[in-house]
Amino acid sequence: MAIDFRLTARQRELQLQSRQFAREVLSRALKAEALPTAEERFAATRPAYEAMIAAGFLRKCIPLSAGGENVALIDTAIMVEELYAVNASVTLTLIGTVLGLLPLLIGGTEEQRGRLLPPFLKQAGAPLAGFCATEPGGSANAASPPPGEGVRTAATLRGERWIIEGRKSWVSSATGWDRKGADILSVLCRTNPGAPPERGISVLVVERPASGLIFERAIDSVGHRAHLLPQFNLRQVSVSRDNVLGSVGGGLALTAACFTGAAALVGVFAVALMRAAFEFTLDFARTERRGGIHPIIEHQAVGYALSDAKTAIEAARCLCWRACQAVDVQSPGAQELAIEAKIHGSETAVGVLTELMRVVGIESYDHALPLGRLLQDALALPLFGGGNIGVRRRQLHAILKRPEYDPLTTSGEAEV
Ligand SMILES: Cc1cc2nc3c(=O)[nH]c(=O)nc-3n(C[C@H](O)[C@H](O)[C@H](O)COP(=O)(O)OP(=O)(O)OC[C@H]3O[C@@H](n4cnc5c(N)ncnc54)[C@H](O)[C@@H]3O)c2cc1C
Repeated sequence: MAIDFRLTARQRELQLQSRQFAREVLSRALKAEALPTAEERFAATRPAYEAMIAAGFLRKCIPLSAGGENVALIDTAIMVEELYAVNASVTLTLIGTVLGLLPLLIGGTEEQRGRLLPPFLKQAGAPLAGFCATEPGGSANAASPPPGEGVRTAATLRGERWIIEGRKSWVSSATGWDRKGADILSVLCRTNPGAPPERGISVLVVERPASGLIFERAIDSVGHRAHLLPQFNLRQVSVSRDNVLGSVGGGLALTAACFTGAAALVGVFAVALMRAAFEFTLDFARTERRGGIHPIIEHQAVGYALSDAKTAIEAARCLCWRACQAVDVQSPGAQELAIEAKIHGSETAVGVLTELMRVVGIESYDHALPLGRLLQDALALPLFGGGNIGVRRRQLHAILKRPEYDPLTTSGEAEV
């Protein structure tokens, strides 16, 4: 009986609570996406984000052991599907903050967690965190040995302080609500230029207010229109020697640990967007005749397209839940499944969204309908959280190349 896809009563309650919150609060915040500049759009989402914090959604992503309420990634998946299906921008602000906290949650000491986590555990305010990996000029080869540049942002120890110098870009919410910085930033830095990347890169935490954090621009992104994606400079930013998360030199391994669960969640984002598009298209097909005699769902071509889309959504959700469960129980196949959920979900979503637009026809090309926005959001999924070409397939390739790799690991795991 171990394989059981039914939700527990607690998970069902979480699902319904998230669905209701999304419908009542997040749907109204979509109007922020119509504002002219990226910063105005992000600022306009603040009340919805505050409501999300007040309703306890951030606490629900922080593990019980760290003072939050999360017991499993699968619960996060159930919650995130509901929120992201309605408003990808604001939900990504929440999940970007969780990603920013992950190095602290996974690699932080008791002292660091006690010092840095409390603002994120309160159900008040609009706390933000960011994981700063991406840099102008590319980040797919962060682990490259010389002569590749790898991670260019450098931190030098001077007495009891690390001095950080570099630039980052595309980091969710990194410069905060006022350009002065998120509450905490986990910054991937080169801490030993002479060491190989697997021993010379660390994650340092920068606390707000950080003098030397200089906002350059907010990227005008294709989708996630009300989510802040800044490019910024870290000029002589000084942090305490005690602000290394995990071990000095262990930054790449800590980053990989943080991005495993995150990959499975990108698959969940894909399910959410497909599901939202499917609900809209099904309703359109049931009600619209487009000048003919029958609602268009009566046409076989439309029925088949809807059938294929629904099948793709169900398959993607199963893989995502399987991946989340594998991460939760630390299965040997967890990393493989999480990457597969990310690649499969993200690429399926782009295909399903365009197919559903064809079902609706020309009206889908009008922003008055939601499909264009959903496709714009979906286009990010194969690109972010480790691009499918530059990062994720390479990771999968590396797993498959291991001499000890057994392809049956992911299907034959027994309960212990
Ligand atoms: C909405 C959104 C939110 C984001 N949030 C964050 C965040 O919070 N924090 C953060 O750090 N980043 C964030 N990013 C950035 C993003 O996650 C990464 O930059 C991205 O995953 C890496 O991009 P890339 O693989 O295209 O890398 P790039 O280095 O820009 O590579 C570009 C392309 O070159 C090719 N390439 C490069 N190297 C190789 C190789 N070795 N093998 C094969 N092909 C290669 C690939 O085709 C690759 O796609 C966000 C992006 C978006 C859109």
